[in-house]
Amino acid sequence: MPCYNEEQVLQRTHARVTGALRDLPHEIIYVDDGSSDATWALIQKLLADAPAGSVSSRVRGVRLSRNFGHQAACLAGLAEAVGDAVVLMDADLQDPPELIPSMAELWFRGWSVVSARRGARHGETRRKRATAYLYYRLLSRICDQPVALDTGDFRLLDRKVVDFVTSLAERELFLRGAISWTGFPETSITYERDPRAAGTTKYTLRKMLALSRTGVLAGTAALPLRIPAYLGVALLLGAGGVGVVRGSARQAAPLGALGMQLLACGVLGEYLLAVFRQVQGRPSYLVMERTGSEHGTAEARFPAHVEEYS
Ligand code: UDP
Ligand code: MG
Repeated sequence: MPCYNEEQVLQRTHARVTGALRDLPHEIIYVDDGSSDATWALIQKLLADAPAGSVSSRVRGVRLSRNFGHQAACLAGLAEAVGDAVVLMDADLQDPPELIPSMAELWFRGWSVVSARRGARHGETRRKRATAYLYYRLLSRICDQPVALDTGDFRLLDRKVVDFVTSLAERELFLRGAISWTGFPETSITYERDPRAAGTTKYTLRKMLALSRTGVLAGTAALPLRIPAYLGVALLLGAGGVGVVRGSARQAAPLGALGMQLLACGVLGEYLLAVFRQVQGRPSYLVMERTGSEHGTAEARFPAHVEEYS
């Protein structure tokens, strides 16, 4: 659970999460993302109050040296977690912890990623709802790999997915995109998003824009870099058309020159894309399971297709 200046809500969150996880063996990891309020002191207090010596439920705290942002804090939590499955959730109770047992159940049935899809969103401004709605749709349209709609980082991830995400070399990580990219069997539960339980949003407009930019950059490099090439070809064809129909090279020349320039940009874009992919360094493939070898299992562990539960 990434926490940035969450002193007003942390205690309440802890009580609800502990209640919701009563029947599941678990550890709760609070990542303090460089808070300037009493968040870290509170985390230490929660630790001190937690029943000692219990293996099936423990509380841990991780404190980052400064504010690195929500995605980095999530990554830190994933790297610390030791469980066979890990749930990422916000600290402000907008992600109801009572959903976690149902998520765990779907994981038991074989799903590697169980995301919580936002149905109604209460207590959020119209602007935030509208921009989020449009952004998810734009992103899923232009992304090289499909991304889940209306889904934040409230998800359960199987250990395999956690290991993959924490081993990524990417400096600018967009967790949701990287998780969808793995292609492991993913399902979702729809829920109504509550308003923040206390305190104010820690996602400033600036942080939101930075996150959207990262999402587009990490997942959609191919399309934007190819736009100049497409335009260039269209303009060159247009110039050819004008030249033939009008019979005038002079009228066609400016169009043709612009087309050539755009095409040249497009060629550079292709090289940039190749460099980007190389630097991004994602593996060429991921193995989901093996059979007929010493690692193999007889029965298929993964469901064959994607279903929606609610
Ligand atoms: N958060 C964080 N670092 C940041 C900003 C936010 O760890 O720089 C955490 C925050 O404490 C919360 C979660 O990310 O647990 C989501 O933030 P918030 O609820 O403020 O965003 P919103 O729901 O308003 O988009
Ligand atoms: Mg929130």
